[in-house]
Amino acid sequence: MTTIDYPELYIGGGWSRPATSDRIQVTSPTTEEVIGSVPAGSTQDVDRAVAAARAAFDDPQGWSTWEPKQRAEVLERFASELEARAGELSRRVSMQNGMPIWLAEQFEGGFPPVLLRYFSDLMVNAPDVDSRPGMLGGTALVRRRPIGVVGAIVPWNVPQAISFLKLAPALAAGCTVVIKPAEETVLDAFLTAEAAAAAGLPDGVLNIVPGGRDTGAYLVEHPDIDKVSFTGSTAAGRKIAETCGRLLRPVTLELGGKSAAILLDDVDLSASMESLFGATLLNNGQICWLNTRVLAPTSRYDEVVDALTGLASSLTVGDPLDPETKIGPLVSSRQRDRVEGYIAKGKAEGGRMTTGGKRPSSVDAGWFVEPTIFADVDNNATISREEIFGPVLSVIPFRDEAEALAIANDSEYGLGGTVWSADVDHAADIAAKVKSGTVGVNHYTNEPVAPFGGIKNSGMGRELGPEGLHAFQHLHTVYLPPAG
Ligand code: NAD
Repeated sequence: MTTIDYPELYIGGGWSRPATSDRIQVTSPTTEEVIGSVPAGSTQDVDRAVAAARAAFDDPQGWSTWEPKQRAEVLERFASELEARAGELSRRVSMQNGMPIWLAEQFEGGFPPVLLRYFSDLMVNAPDVDSRPGMLGGTALVRRRPIGVVGAIVPWNVPQAISFLKLAPALAAGCTVVIKPAEETVLDAFLTAEAAAAAGLPDGVLNIVPGGRDTGAYLVEHPDIDKVSFTGSTAAGRKIAETCGRLLRPVTLELGGKSAAILLDDVDLSASMESLFGATLLNNGQICWLNTRVLAPTSRYDEVVDALTGLASSLTVGDPLDPETKIGPLVSSRQRDRVEGYIAKGKAEGGRMTTGGKRPSSVDAGWFVEPTIFADVDNNATISREEIFGPVLSVIPFRDEAEALAIANDSEYGLGGTVWSADVDHAADIAAKVKSGTVGVNHYTNEPVAPFGGIKNSGMGRELGPEGLHAFQHLHTVYLPPAG
């Protein structure tokens, strides 16, 4: 099999030799074979990338000073170049992290151009200045300015979409960016670089330095970074927040989750199964907002357990590049060990496993785990409290809606959640009482126009919506004197 190998890094608007000969090898989670390699970014490469981004940002005629419309024209070309590569981008993500290809086409091929156009439009239509008649006689002119050079760090689970949750608003706002993809998913990032170069993004506006956590930590601390945007684990987010706290550096953190799906007693289960799959087991269980605790009323508990057991055992597990596959492999053998550890703990703590729990017999390679359902789980069990990041659900009973809300809110996380009912208004009332950043009714989808993000250990700040743009701007006020 031919591998995908890149000799150089995309820094300062062109391809250049890395500072060291160290390389990152990407292994397929499906075949366990090496599928490609790229240079591993070193601290010298980060230095060069940040210097290029700094020079591009500080250029008095450069990107940060352009009219939003001028940037939007370049970003429209970037969107088109990404669209031209959407099939290959989707395939590369699927090959690297096991995301089923139909999902990769939606999330990874489809979403980035949507985000570039959405944030460009927001900028083009935003008022240049907000002129506020003052209370003390004068006038205040309030403007939003690009925040500066952004250090963006992304995980492997949804690498393209998460990169563009940061890149699209940052670039539209006039920032310049150094992005560090996760080591597991670097091959797609090099296609992003090719698209940026083909679109004519000015030199230094986007720079890509692949690497591990040390490279990420070095980027976060770099003196010429003005803002950090991070998506990843709560543990890494905490370290990054500590660094940014010491440096008084603005930071947005999108972290882990342990969200709850509350199934009310009038839920139409059979009509909800497809959306429930999307809210609970999508991307092999490797999405931060998934509802991995399913809360079911005691009156319908057995019915819910049976329905989820039937769903999980019916899902096609296999090669993520096969369009029929619903569950692909986990990203790495380390991740599979972690998930299997949680399955063992679930059993040891008294959970009743109704399906799954094993490696599927239908495949002879790859880091697969069968979709797994645990019934009779207490909300205090380890598998109810900790983020597993695999296809493992806990079904927890509740007596009434007050108890359902109490269980849903009894979590150190607060990222997503859903409420399911035949009565949408009633479900929306319950949803309003869920303590998390986002909640869906009868489905869960990240809507581009609305803020996404978490509370508690799920993070700080928001992406998407105007709020996601404002995260890459700072406010600037001019006080005009009283007239006369
Ligand atoms: P991770 O935190 O180990 O790694 C994520 C990224 O951060 C990688 O690029 C990694 O190299 C880098 N990194 C790790 N430690 C760092 C440090 N100290 N300083 C700077 N960079 C560092 O996470 P992971 O296990 O690879 O990814 C899965 C996690 O991401 C899950 O916990 C999941 O919930 C979370 N996630 C959250 C969201 C969200 O929007 N809230 C989205 C996707 C994933």
